[in-house]
Amino acid sequence: MSAQPAEDARLKSFVDSVANLRGISYVAASSEGLPYFIAGIEKENADYVSAVANSLYDRMSELTNKLGLGDTDSIKVFLNDTTRLYVFKYKDLVLVIKYDFALDRILEKFTEMLKAAKSVICYNCKTDLTFKIYRCPKCGSFNTYDSERCWSCGADLKLKTCPSCGKLILPDGSKPGFFTVLIYRLKSIFSK
Ligand SMILES: [Zn+2]
Ligand SMILES: [Zn+2]
Repeated sequence: MSAQPAEDARLKSFVDSVANLRGISYVAASSEGLPYFIAGIEKENADYVSAVANSLYDRMSELTNKLGLGDTDSIKVFLNDTTRLYVFKYKDLVLVIKYDFALDRILEKFTEMLKAAKSVICYNCKTDLTFKIYRCPKCGSFNTYDSERCWSCGADLKLKTCPSCGKLILPDGSKPGFFTVLIYRLKSIFSK
């Protein structure tokens, strides 16, 4: 286990947030085939899932390398119409998530943020919104707090309300300028 303590906190936050989403069967982060962080799964099954995820990832990397396709970043397995398995590498760990396909997009976004070491912290109340879902007010799609536009309907999401303190925040969690807020308020008045 060579992951740094600060990185562990980040990974733990990812695993905890994802595990709490509706439609997640389990999340397991494993190191060399052994469970490291797990959620939504029994201990004995976690050993099995971790081992399978690791060999799946290793075999896939081996094959894609042999075929000259470069390094494997992630693997998605379509288990049936609605259930998917997402396997990806994060530092020296292999993560596996079994989930409902409706969560496909948000899981990819969360993974991107995890890998890019990106954080969204509310400037006012310091709540960590990195792995929290922001529902588009226009279409209800799941977005991340760092998104500027809704991936589904294209709505402008530059300003969002912090779910903890109610303040308006920018995609990086910082405080918006006076004119940005003013334009936002005017827009919301005239679009009614
Ligand atoms: Zn806040
Ligand atoms: Zn939308």
